Amino acid sequence: MATEKGVPSNSRVMMLLAQLERMNGDIGRQAETARQVTAKILHLIQTQEKSGKEVMSKGSSGMEVILASLENTRDVQTILNISSILTELLTVGRGRRVGVFVSKGGTGILFQTLISASKEMPPSEELMLQLHSLLAKVGPKDRKFGVAARLTGALNVTVNLIKQNLQNPKLLLPCLQVLRVYSTNSVNAIAMGKNGVVELMFKILSPYTKKNTSLLKVALDALGALLKSKTNARRAVDGGYVPILLALYSDWHRNDSRHRHMLIRKGLLVCLRNITNIKLGRKAVIEADGMRVLYNTSTECLPVRTLDPLINTSSLIMRKCFPKNRLPLPTIKSAFFFQLPHVPGSCSSGQMYNPAPGADDVVDESDDNDEADTENDSENEEDDKDQPSPELRIYERFFVELSEDFQGFNFESSKPSSTSMSPSSPFTSSVTPAKSPRPVIVPTAQALSPKHHLPPSASTSSPPAPHGLTSLELDNIHVSKDQTKEPHIPSTDRHECTFSSLSKTTTEVENIEKELARVLECVALDTMDSSLNTEHRGVKQEDVSATGRSRGSDCGSEGTEDDTAEGAVLEVPDTALLLPLHDPDLYVEMVKGTLSVPQYAEVAYPDYFGHVAPTFREPLLERIYGVQRAKIFQDIERLIHPNDILDKVVYDLDIPSCPVIEEDGESLKFNSQFESGNLRKAVQVRKFEYDLVLNSDINSNHYHQWFYFEVSGMRVGATYRFNIINCEKSNSQFNYGMQVLMYSVQEAISGSPRWVRTGSDICYYKNHFARSSIAARPEGKSYYTLTFSINFKHKDDVCYFAYHYPYTYSTLKDAADLLRQDVLCESLGGNSCPLLTITAMPESNSNDHICQFRNRPLIFLSARVHPGETNASWVMKGSLEFLMSSSPLANSLRESYIFKIVPMLNPDGVVNGNHRCSLSGEDLNRQWQNPNPDLHPTIYHTKSLLQYLAHMQRAPLVFCDYHGHSRKKNVFMYGCSVKETVWQSNISATSSDLQEDIGYRALPKILSQIAPAFSMGSCSFVVERSKESTARVVVWREIGVQRSYTMESTLCGCDQGKYKGLQIGTRELEEMGAQFCVALLRLKRLTGLRNHQHLLDLESDILGSQAKVASSCTTTYVLDEDEPSFLEAIDYSAESNDDETEAETENTPEVHENLEQLSDSDTNHRD
Ligand SMILES: [Zn+2]
Repeated sequence: MATEKGVPSNSRVMMLLAQLERMNGDIGRQAETARQVTAKILHLIQTQEKSGKEVMSKGSSGMEVILASLENTRDVQTILNISSILTELLTVGRGRRVGVFVSKGGTGILFQTLISASKEMPPSEELMLQLHSLLAKVGPKDRKFGVAARLTGALNVTVNLIKQNLQNPKLLLPCLQVLRVYSTNSVNAIAMGKNGVVELMFKILSPYTKKNTSLLKVALDALGALLKSKTNARRAVDGGYVPILLALYSDWHRNDSRHRHMLIRKGLLVCLRNITNIKLGRKAVIEADGMRVLYNTSTECLPVRTLDPLINTSSLIMRKCFPKNRLPLPTIKSAFFFQLPHVPGSCSSGQMYNPAPGADDVVDESDDNDEADTENDSENEEDDKDQPSPELRIYERFFVELSEDFQGFNFESSKPSSTSMSPSSPFTSSVTPAKSPRPVIVPTAQALSPKHHLPPSASTSSPPAPHGLTSLELDNIHVSKDQTKEPHIPSTDRHECTFSSLSKTTTEVENIEKELARVLECVALDTMDSSLNTEHRGVKQEDVSATGRSRGSDCGSEGTEDDTAEGAVLEVPDTALLLPLHDPDLYVEMVKGTLSVPQYAEVAYPDYFGHVAPTFREPLLERIYGVQRAKIFQDIERLIHPNDILDKVVYDLDIPSCPVIEEDGESLKFNSQFESGNLRKAVQVRKFEYDLVLNSDINSNHYHQWFYFEVSGMRVGATYRFNIINCEKSNSQFNYGMQVLMYSVQEAISGSPRWVRTGSDICYYKNHFARSSIAARPEGKSYYTLTFSINFKHKDDVCYFAYHYPYTYSTLKDAADLLRQDVLCESLGGNSCPLLTITAMPESNSNDHICQFRNRPLIFLSARVHPGETNASWVMKGSLEFLMSSSPLANSLRESYIFKIVPMLNPDGVVNGNHRCSLSGEDLNRQWQNPNPDLHPTIYHTKSLLQYLAHMQRAPLVFCDYHGHSRKKNVFMYGCSVKETVWQSNISATSSDLQEDIGYRALPKILSQIAPAFSMGSCSFVVERSKESTARVVVWREIGVQRSYTMESTLCGCDQGKYKGLQIGTRELEEMGAQFCVALLRLKRLTGLRNHQHLLDLESDILGSQAKVASSCTTTYVLDEDEPSFLEAIDYSAESNDDETEAETENTPEVHENLEQLSDSDTNHRD
């Protein structure tokens, strides 16, 4: 026989094997010799380690010889010897040796041997035991084990053995071990189920015992595997085994006081877990009082950390069994409705706008899933591409600076520059083209739309009212309490509280402070519809007046000062000083011109006072161990102790008379009826716990994510738990360190007007509220809960909570009003969409300077197409303030470029507290291919502006749309690369030969070098089909802007760079905006004026080797979630599939990895 070098062929064991090999042809007749030889081999292997090594050594054919003998012999004793040899051999160095055994076809021979041995009457018990022990060793390493067992008939041999040997633990154990392996194959599981194996396993299970526990454990494992099959689960339910499992679990829980048998307890739970994958199973658990059993046992396990697996599995079962509820709402359609204009023509999407009543709940999967809107766009593209130039000519007026005779224009704004700006502002003084190199905002025509609507103070060209430019209107500002209590009070009585004088004189300040301190409810505006206000506040007035006074004195006593009337001076922050582009007075004016669907009449304090970024660091919140579990247990308690639940509705937009809460100080008060507010309903669940429901985007029935609401009536010292119960995304950065934002009016008044990251015990998980069958795909889809806990610091405070730093449309107008602006168009809701132009006047009238001025490249920026992404506005604020600053860099930028900026593409969405859509219930960033002038005016006109520029051969050098990203950290960009775009070429092979200008990479690369929050690693330059109607892609493909980007800023924080481990704040966001501008200046140096060849060299310098780029077709795919998964399952949907159909297939079909990757990247890109 063949031996390998190093193994002496004359070694004892090898000689015996050679002898065995010679016999193999005729082993049947030499039974006695075979017995002797195999016995000797066995002895050698048992006594000398080296013998085993020799047999198993590489190149040795020892295993073949042994297997051949096993295959050929019929002699029981020889078979026993050989299986003992195999047992000895495979016990050592298991992995490799078993592998060799399997690869030589050992499993099949074992099964054959088993079958023929089973035909002996009676079969040898010892042989059966040996063979099963061997199979139990081999099974887990052989992928085809289950199939082979079924095909050879071994399955039934084992099952019959078990049936006949229930009282024979010695034989039963290896049989069960083999059965456990059989059961992992789903077809086997079903076959065995039909053969009564489920019931058989229950015969083996027993109440607490110290005997044969390993047997029990294996039987439970096998049963658990069998119950993964839904037919078997059903069999268990029908057989009444659910109460038995629960009783067994209780018994073991009670008696296993030293936790020696955790695995058995876990095994029982796994059986229950698998049974509850079917609806009947969940029902059976509930009926057997399983919730209480599992809840109580888990509660008792809580103190012992090693029992966590039991608690977690129990928790999973309870979550699955928790009866599904509908949201406590009359309809999931938005509480507000906006009548859309009739869209002429048979626009296919037209039906969407005015849905039939029954079509209420049509929902697409999630806002991350962009696949839905990708049909039929290629034709639309054609229509749009060649807009006749006469039509485009109307956009000429927005580009006065590009016209031949621009010097003839009056470059002073037709609107007076604001007087409330700091004198150092470079753009306040009048600028004449000839003399001053200082920057101006080049004004253009006042309005495009005939309906054009400017904010009151902006629409006038009369001389400015010095300073108190809003003083006339101030009479209209009341503290809401007063207004509602005495609606007809003469306005003269209110003169003392004119806000214009807030920081002017001491006495006035004091008056106002008293006023403010007395009532911190809200600032209300006198509106035409004052009935709305009174009605809404009808009950609340009383409450307010009841607590108003005491609130005032509390304010005083909160501080360190004494509580005498004059002494207790509460500093109302002069945020105008701290916030150059925020003027509270002007803000109120701006609010009056803002049109909201609900006709809001109040102003939220944070928007009024403004926000000054705190100076302290705000680290990502460390997640406390077991926090989600604890929260889920509290949720389950609602079912266990229903009498403890208050279920008291304290706020409800759907009921105009609500909130009707008695003023007993037992409930918080909520309010969301102000610009950008979003909270639909609040239900007090327990004394200090509230379920909150968010409103859908207007004219839609989902997109719940953004929230912004006011809370008052709190107690100090209590921990309040808030649950937002209708979140939709499957995971959230709230699980990875993000906190909610809170604004305390008390803090603001005492000099810290700011949003701070706050909240403890934050987590985000799937809950027991079901999305309606129409709204949810697949069926049974649930909502998610965001829960956070708050300890309020001040008594009688008014606090605001928000998803992210609010930035309202009125705030933008407030800021933009200090700049000069055009109105691009009016939104659907009647709000004007500002277009800002920033550049410097030519240095002089010299030809050179004029020429330079005319040839300045354009930079086109936009933001806030998605209203919930408020961070985009803060980045934009940073860009604007930097561009307007007196820094030499800013000056240089203004001299280098003409900036065209649409800072808020979706004013209506912002005003009305939407998260994603405009009033048409559509995502405006999916309308760029074919925007409708009536339904998507801001997109239509912005695109037309760009088309005009392209037509004039002045397409922007850079286009960037600012966004926010809710699932990733850092700031990053999406760009457009032909090369990396798979869907365009279809053939990836050709794309690597493609030459492409890699200029699009320069800007993000520069940003990664200068902006600490920016991460190049998260950037992607793939153009997915699902994104083909976004601003970035349309501007790239149709306008021909190579550097067309989406810039995504995290809502959470950073995990790299200087801000690693910190949550993002407005300071960092604004810095990002400023750095973006600085990067443009560097880009200019690279684009090196007419020296285009030079550009590539320089860029490749920056970018490192170009070869790397060429070979990096997939390097910038962002493949999966950037966060690791949790130990605690956020979602248990994989476990609770309602689908009752049985998957009979042997193997789950292979998933095409490429497709998978593509769709993964789609769901993670969110521009
Ligand atoms: Zn976005």
